Amino acid sequence: MKTIDQISFAGKKALVRVDFNVPLDKDYNITDDNRMTAALPTINKILKDGGAVILMSHLGRPKGGPEDKFSLKHLVPHLSDLLGQQVEFADDCIGPEAVEKAGALQSGEVLLLENLRFYKEEEKGDVGFAEKLSKLGDIYVNDAFGTAHRAHASTAVIAQFFPNAKYFGYLMAAELANAEKVLNGAVRPFTAIMGGAKVSDKIELIERLLDKVDSLIIGGGMAYTFAKAQGGKIGKSLVEEDKLGLALELIDKAKSKGVNLLLPTDSIVADNFSNDANTGIAQNNAIEDGWMGLDIGPDSIAEFSKVVEGSKTILWNGPMGVFEMEKFEKGTKAIADAVVKATENGAFSLIGGGDSAAAVAKFNLTDDVSYVSTGGGALLEYMEGKELPGVKAIND
Ligand code: AMP
Repeated sequence: MKTIDQISFAGKKALVRVDFNVPLDKDYNITDDNRMTAALPTINKILKDGGAVILMSHLGRPKGGPEDKFSLKHLVPHLSDLLGQQVEFADDCIGPEAVEKAGALQSGEVLLLENLRFYKEEEKGDVGFAEKLSKLGDIYVNDAFGTAHRAHASTAVIAQFFPNAKYFGYLMAAELANAEKVLNGAVRPFTAIMGGAKVSDKIELIERLLDKVDSLIIGGGMAYTFAKAQGGKIGKSLVEEDKLGLALELIDKAKSKGVNLLLPTDSIVADNFSNDANTGIAQNNAIEDGWMGLDIGPDSIAEFSKVVEGSKTILWNGPMGVFEMEKFEKGTKAIADAVVKATENGAFSLIGGGDSAAAVAKFNLTDDVSYVSTGGGALLEYMEGKELPGVKAIND
């Protein structure tokens, strides 16, 4: 793997693609700076070598032109604090100001460019736009795992302009190594925990995991599609009617491959999708009309926790219930606690990004699991066996 450990940046300008797509509140305070802190080791290595750093990122989903609320200038004060030095800012990611500020940058200095997605060329993977960006630095470093599954100008297309000077940053390298460890080096027993809203988003991953895992736990909204497929009554729980056949197929496949497939046997049910709803406990195959399952129930928690605690490798993607609401967070919290316990006993636990990472953060357990990925979609695609454009562009 071509990582930044293989070179010295002394006297060089490194153009580093980071994923600083952080959540901001209405006053532009950063509510979760994980993605920024995750890029610090790479930035610090370049500075320590005596190089200069030019950072480029996207933020939010601008409509193809500048919008103040998506300006990366809002990140400058916090990034300066994190690095312990003033970070320069260019109001545009290409054009005269970017060229001038990048040109004037000295060893040990850091420049942040304005949001790449203020140009629609970024997401289109425009070669001309990528070439303009490439002129700003001597070496290209990709440390943006969260966007590695996109063939955008700054994440993949740009690499062709650095045929002998393109490297993975430390975050990218760690993400890939941890994903590999789980996919191809898992110590047994290996348990995958899948949850979240829809089975349709995760079919490919579930199918692939059936060839790898000892146990597969399915919770969250997607479990009701399985319950209905098996003839259960699920009230007004979430269901994907067009995936009932597929659910039965997955159950059969698990059986034929000797995978221990665990589905919830009971649920916390509610008469409304609200934290103020009336709630109760129901068997998963006997949910009354007018009620919906919004979390796994106590029996499921006990059964799932036992399997998780006995595992040596754990992959978790997707919450067990609507953990954003206090009334329906218990299942996700209990599974998080079980993952932590297993980790304390020597298991390797990889938490997929997105909602699972948010859940682990909500329960203050981020430091108690082995690794929390910064990539939601990117990790899923990697695990499905797809070649990520951002990774391929460096490897080619
Ligand atoms: P995903 O993005 O597919 O991982 O789904 C995450 C979302 O699924 C979270 O926002 C959860 O609130 C939601 N979710 C989990 N369990 C359920 C459920 N039983 N019913 C409805 N939504 C759920």
